Amino acid sequence: MNAHSSVPAATLLGVPYDLASSYARGSADGPPAIREALRVDSSNAWSELGIDTSDPAVLADAGDVAFADGADPRAAIDAAADALLARGERPLALGGDHSVTYPLVRAARRHATRLTIVHFDAHPDLYDAYEGDRYSHACPFARIMEEGHASRLVQVGIRTRTAHQREQAKRFGVETIAMAAWSEIADLEIDGPLYVSVDLDVLDPAFVPGISHPEPGGCSVRQLVDALHLIHAFEAPIVAADVVELNPRFDVRGRAALVAAKVVKELAAMMHERRP
Ligand code: MN
Ligand code: MN
Repeated sequence: MNAHSSVPAATLLGVPYDLASSYARGSADGPPAIREALRVDSSNAWSELGIDTSDPAVLADAGDVAFADGADPRAAIDAAADALLARGERPLALGGDHSVTYPLVRAARRHATRLTIVHFDAHPDLYDAYEGDRYSHACPFARIMEEGHASRLVQVGIRTRTAHQREQAKRFGVETIAMAAWSEIADLEIDGPLYVSVDLDVLDPAFVPGISHPEPGGCSVRQLVDALHLIHAFEAPIVAADVVELNPRFDVRGRAALVAAKVVKELAAMMHERRP
C-alpha cells in the first residue's frame, strides 16, 4: 500500500446546471438520474475492463456543485473541480449541459502540464457566441482553445458542422473525426494527459431518448465504448472527464441514464488503470 492508495481513481462531481442550454432545460436533473442508474438492481457495477466501480477506491462521490444566487456559475464549477484536483483526486463530472466543460477543463489544466482533449459529440460546440451568449453550451470548446487550455482537441462523431464552425475548427487546429469517418478512430495516436468529454448526443437518438438535441445518424453504445477502450490502450492518464447533456425530462424508462451510467463505469475503470 502506498500513500496514494487512499485516493480514489475517480470522483463523481455532479454539475446540475442547464442555464446555458439553447433549446431545452432539463439537463440540470442529470446527476441524480445518473447516480440512480449506477445503483440500479438490473445491472451491476463492474466495467467491461473488469473493474468493480462500487469499490470506493475506484469511484468516490463528492456530491454536487452548489450554485449560489447571483454568483458566477463557472467560478463555482471551476472551484469545486480545483478542490478535488488539489488533493490528488480526479473529477468525473456529471452534467449538466455542455457549457460546464469549459470551467472543468480550465481547472484540470491548472493541474496538468498540458492537456489533450478527446470530445465525443454530434456537435463541435465551437461557436464564438450562440444567441448572444459566449458561454452557451454551443461554445465551450471555442473558449477552451482561445484561452489555450488544451494543446490538442480531437472531436469525434461530429455531424452538424456549419460553415462558421468549420472556420473555427481550422482557426484552432481542431482535429475532427466526423461521424461519417468513424473508422478513422483506429488511426488515432493519443498521448496524455487526457481530458475526455462525452456529450451523450454523439449517440444515435435510438440509444438515448433522454437528450435535448437528438441528431440522427449517430454512433451505437457499442461503438462509443469500443472507442473509449481504444483510447485506453494508450498510456495516457485521464486528468478529468465529463458525461454531459443527459435530459431526464425526455428520457424513456431511464434508458439514456443507463447509457450515461455505463459510460461513467468505463471511464472510472480507465482512470483506475491509468493513474498519473
Ligand atoms: Mn456538446
Ligand atoms: Mn451535442
